Amino acid sequence: MKNRIIYREGFKIFTLTKEYLEILKTNKLNVQEHGQNRLIIKQSEHGITKDKIAPKAIEIINKLNSAGFRAYIVGGAVRDLILNKIPKDFDIVTDATPEQIVRVVSNSRIIGRRFKIVHAVRGKDIYEITTFRSSPGTNSRNNDTVTKNSTGILVRDNNYCRSMSKDVSRRDFTINALYLDVSCMKIYDFYGGVYDIINKNVEIIGDPKIRYEEDPVRMIRAVRFAAKLNFKIEANTKKHINSMGKNLCYVSPDRMYEEIVKLLLLGAGLDTYKLLDKFNLLPYIFGNEYFDIMNSPREKIFIQRGLLESDKRTREGKPNSPYFLYSILLFPVFKAKLFELYTKNTNKVHNLYNIDYSELVLFKEISQQILASIALVNVPQAIVMRIVNSWINYVQVICLKDEEKLHEMILKNTFRATFDLINIRSSIDPYLVKIVSFLSPYYKKAQELQQSKIKDRDFSKSNKAHFKKEKKLRKKLKKEHRKALKF
Ligand code: ATP
Ligand code: MG
Repeated sequence: MKNRIIYREGFKIFTLTKEYLEILKTNKLNVQEHGQNRLIIKQSEHGITKDKIAPKAIEIINKLNSAGFRAYIVGGAVRDLILNKIPKDFDIVTDATPEQIVRVVSNSRIIGRRFKIVHAVRGKDIYEITTFRSSPGTNSRNNDTVTKNSTGILVRDNNYCRSMSKDVSRRDFTINALYLDVSCMKIYDFYGGVYDIINKNVEIIGDPKIRYEEDPVRMIRAVRFAAKLNFKIEANTKKHINSMGKNLCYVSPDRMYEEIVKLLLLGAGLDTYKLLDKFNLLPYIFGNEYFDIMNSPREKIFIQRGLLESDKRTREGKPNSPYFLYSILLFPVFKAKLFELYTKNTNKVHNLYNIDYSELVLFKEISQQILASIALVNVPQAIVMRIVNSWINYVQVICLKDEEKLHEMILKNTFRATFDLINIRSSIDPYLVKIVSFLSPYYKKAQELQQSKIKDRDFSKSNKAHFKKEKKLRKKLKKEHRKALKF
């Protein structure tokens, strides 16, 4: 009997036969016994069709193949295809070195020093291409070594090799240690990853203590996959997260910024935040002082409501930007510090209604101080500016003293985000409910205005395309006309 595809309630579901489940189970037992065991899963057994793979990824792989290199789809894309989900991105791995990749793949460049990878730009998508790597302590083909600092963190990790079975031991979790050969559609599974996907299990490869020491980001990645896929974290993988969270302070603040955006902005922000909290990782991400403010029962409700709204936006396919996420997460800190410093500087009672417009410069300074002092996370300057502006807009709108200024604000592009922030905040500040209902008609107007702007833009775009087509046609006619005149 074969594994087969069935349709239930309009969905395509791949069902595995009892016999095949037994094969996967036996393979997992072999992995547990021997550390690694290669299982090749044929297309008839996994059911993934080639049309589910981004044509641009296939084109890049074909380019590498024709230049004599091996190349595969690797990691999350294979995992998501098995789960019948649309992959977020298609990562590629090859035995070509980064320098060889950029020679073969057009529009590509080398990124990073600690971990060199290649980015190939195709339209608005970026394809990440990595080179097979081997473990610390093993010989590399390019005489580069894996370097660790005194805390055990990998500070240089570019020892390339030609072997898939070596590369796989460097991957983070069994569910991500899968390679898909698009030419024959076979999947290579070395650590029982497919078995773990079916059993909804996030399991680290190797000794968790060493793997978290090498790269503490793996702890927050475990949490991210568990929340995003609704999987559980395997006992041994979980055990060290509680005790090793403090290692997150060794991660570079730039990388931490990117990881937080990935953690909280991709549609499962609320579940991820709750799980990070459960593992006590949030104080290591935001620092103890800020986390204490964020974690008060009231502020917790506000942050969770903000994340819920942000997840909704992502699910609805609406733009969701890091600046809005951060302006929600750190708003409780902004408010607390604002009152503290405002009172100290002005000797006035700390109530937002008392705030004077002339003190906007002070707000700006306070906001910038707050953002600069989250030492673990390096928020880029362009994002800092937008966060600061969103907080200042918030204060300006809720003060509502200067009506002329309020009307000016309402006409601004940023008004919708300001309204969203006030609306979310009204879940814990009852006095804002009145302001929300006062502003609601203006918000609706601003939304309509935005819609018409999008339509205008689309119209001018389609007009441009139309003119381009016409120009091409005219050129062609002219050419034909000239040709006809010659004879
Ligand atoms: P997503 O769906 O979020 O893109 P992903 O598993 O593809 O999930 P990426 O960050 O795109 O995650 O990384 C691609 C692959 O690279 C992973 O599947 C994993 O095999 C490997 N990888 C990424 N980060 C690490 C890490 N810190 N340590 C070890 N392997 C990693
Ligand atoms: Mg990926």
